[in-house]
Amino acid sequence: MERFGRCVTMENIIHDIKSTVNSAVKKSGDLLEIGKVKLSLADAGSKLSDLYESLGEMAYRAKREEVDLSEEMESVIWQIDEMRSEIKKQKEKMAELRSQQICKNCGKSNVIEAKYCNECGAALKD
Ligand SMILES: [Zn+2]
Repeated sequence: MERFGRCVTMENIIHDIKSTVNSAVKKSGDLLEIGKVKLSLADAGSKLSDLYESLGEMAYRAKREEVDLSEEMESVIWQIDEMRSEIKKQKEKMAELRSQQICKNCGKSNVIEAKYCNECGAALKD
């Protein structure tokens, strides 16, 4: 009779407890790091909004007052690019800390085991 398919030895139990404790220690460190990344993401997000806002104001003025602000706008666009790539980096870091992976096609987070994106279906691993 095979009522107990698997025999659980004391060693297995101890091993399980140890790995649970280790992952808990790792998790609390990661949580702290996740908090930090969250803060800098929020900060970068509000900076990005400010940049878009001033770009919008410039576009408005350029049209309304018929002034050439293309150089100023170019500089803001450059800053927006910088901020966007910073946000992308922070999001990748966040995904790593949460044991997730980011889809290169659509930017959504997926569980680390996933082979295809849950959002757009793109292959996640090369
Ligand atoms: Zn995707």
